[in-house]
Amino acid sequence: MSTATAEPQGTTSLGEDRTPVLTARGLTKKFVSRSSLGFKKGEVTAVDNIDLDLYRGETYGLVGESGSGKSTTGRLLQGLIIPTEGTITLDGEELDATDKKGSKHLRRDIQMIFQDPHSSLNPRRRIRQILEEALLIVGERDKKVIKERIRESLEAVGFNEEHAERFPHEFSGGQRQRIGIARALMVSPKVLICDEPVSALDVSIQAQVLNLLRKLQRERGLTYLFISHDMSVVRYLADRVGVMLKGKLVEQNTADELYNNPQHEYTQELLSSVPIEHPSQRGQK
Ligand code: ADP
Ligand code: MG
Repeated sequence: MSTATAEPQGTTSLGEDRTPVLTARGLTKKFVSRSSLGFKKGEVTAVDNIDLDLYRGETYGLVGESGSGKSTTGRLLQGLIIPTEGTITLDGEELDATDKKGSKHLRRDIQMIFQDPHSSLNPRRRIRQILEEALLIVGERDKKVIKERIRESLEAVGFNEEHAERFPHEFSGGQRQRIGIARALMVSPKVLICDEPVSALDVSIQAQVLNLLRKLQRERGLTYLFISHDMSVVRYLADRVGVMLKGKLVEQNTADELYNNPQHEYTQELLSSVPIEHPSQRGQK
């Protein structure tokens, strides 16, 4: 029996359901690195044999320094790239990113929020078109459904239908990230993979976006994989935390345990290098 199946069953004190919604086993991704002339130089193991369970309604924080494989893990789970080895299971069903049904499934149920809302929103499109596109991709053609979903998604992030007629440049960085979240909500996903969602934002507005993510999770029972190099932000949001080092998951625990009692030397190092501050207190010297 694997250690994963020995996880406690039933509802925890956090209130989340102990059924894994998304599971990875032996997840591995190797990239071929090439010289400037295109010759194969070697192989980088960006993600190295990772086992991961995301439980319904929880926030799993994935931390580690730049280049440790966090984004690659997120992209594998979303189906944007295909694993070299390993399996991904969504709601008990194994996904094959290469098969059409599987990838459609992936696109709908697992959505991503990126670090840079400037480059992830097409500047030439109105917000309405950007949101509409998210549904068209998954095959929704019903105009009434699309219109209603746009209204509902904008409302969920604190905007209204009038904002739909504007262009991305008419919004601030924090507002654009909220539109990125609205776009992800368009397809009613189960899992949101948030890759450094507040890292590009002013510290003064990071807390706003984090609080919005919390609110949406409560209201919709969403599951988050929250990727960040920022230990304070992860402390604020995560129920459990995994630490990545050179493609490997070297430590995993509840957030309380991990921050109070880090086991791995590398986790201790990450925690000792920065003060852990509440996001709303930051920059208030
Ligand atoms: P993180 O998000 O933790 O900063 P990444 O997942 O982006 O780390 O990268 C992990 C490793 O994989 C790095 O060494 C990076 O250079 C390499 N890598 C990521 N994407 C590619 C790619 N498309 N081609 C080649 N190497 C890549
Ligand atoms: Mg990254």
